[in-house]
Amino acid sequence: MQKDSEKIIYIVAEHFENIIKPVTYELVACACKIKKFYPANIRVIILGKETEKLSFEIARTTGLDVTAIEINELAFNNAQIYKDVLKELTEESHPSFVLFANTPHGLDVACGLSVRTGGACIAGVEGIDKIGETLCFRKQMFYGKINAHIAADSDTLIITVQPGTFGIYRPESQKPGSVETRKVQYSSEIMPVIVKRRSETLDSPISEAKVIVSAGNGIGERENLDLIYKLAGIFPGSAVGGSRILVDRGWLEYKQQIGLTGTQVAPELYIACGISGASQHLAGMKGSGFIVAINKDKGAAIFNESDICVVEDLKTFIPALIEEYEKESKA
Ligand SMILES: Cc1cc2nc3c(=O)[nH]c(=O)nc-3n(C[C@H](O)[C@H](O)[C@H](O)COP(=O)(O)OP(=O)(O)OC[C@H]3O[C@@H](n4cnc5c(N)ncnc54)[C@H](O)[C@@H]3O)c2cc1C
Repeated sequence: MQKDSEKIIYIVAEHFENIIKPVTYELVACACKIKKFYPANIRVIILGKETEKLSFEIARTTGLDVTAIEINELAFNNAQIYKDVLKELTEESHPSFVLFANTPHGLDVACGLSVRTGGACIAGVEGIDKIGETLCFRKQMFYGKINAHIAADSDTLIITVQPGTFGIYRPESQKPGSVETRKVQYSSEIMPVIVKRRSETLDSPISEAKVIVSAGNGIGERENLDLIYKLAGIFPGSAVGGSRILVDRGWLEYKQQIGLTGTQVAPELYIACGISGASQHLAGMKGSGFIVAINKDKGAAIFNESDICVVEDLKTFIPALIEEYEKESKA
């Protein structure tokens, strides 16, 4: 039986073009939540070529220890290498949990690792609860009609975490973690040649924006989207999103849809303009750091999730806000 001090939670960092993907910090938030119920050491694993800068960045911003696995063959992303190398690491150190982001890459590696190690895998986790003595992982099923609690009897449990559900990680200490670097030479007869091509919808800025201004049916006319874009323009690093209705009408692109069947986001600031707060929309944004809602109906459900509730017509309020901002910034 492992002592608490020997138990391990691994987080597998996601990075792209020498930048840590923000979802990595959501994995840290999830690991910290697991740790509350299941005391263990959290360690971040980063695989890639020349990951030194990124490893130190993670160690500094999270205070966690990092293992950097340097693999020259990972100049291009290659899930096959991830699965093989992580299998060896898992068999060597027997982690209790291995956490991935619920992204196409994370899902690919997590499922492959599960098959290779025989560890159970729960995909799309959105929350953690202890029911009796059992640690359960919450996930939506059947388009959100069911919130299922799933437990697994497995020495190593592999989970993928739904982006936007665990919120922004805030470290308890400012002390940086340590970085251990391992070099691995990967040789395989089957070494697929991977070509890097930027996808239109993956890595769309909406999932990484610090501020999201979102439009709903309450904007009334398509022309009023200009107001939303103008408001977003005030905030550096912002993006415009919206509810499904606007996407169905073709006023916004699918990659801008926030919600259960769109993208799940967790920006520092989310401004909902003319959005009622249907559960399917809330499922995509309620992990945001600070929520401001503008709605002329004081009983709108979105206000139950909001930090600031503006009961106003958005066509009056947003121009007044922009005007005030412009006056202030000129002064
Ligand atoms: C299986 C399934 C999946 C779904 N997935 C998603 C999803 O991923 N994302 C999503 O968003 N929806 C999704 N939906 C749809 C969802 O149920 C709602 O229909 C949708 O979110 C409502 O969009 P809305 O809030 O913009 O519009 P409405 O519900 O019509 O709300 C408009 C709001 O604007 C306010 N308003 C009106 N005029 C003004 C004004 N001048 N100034 C200020 N406020 C004003 C109104 O008071 C109202 O609260 C899904 C539905 C199903 C069944």
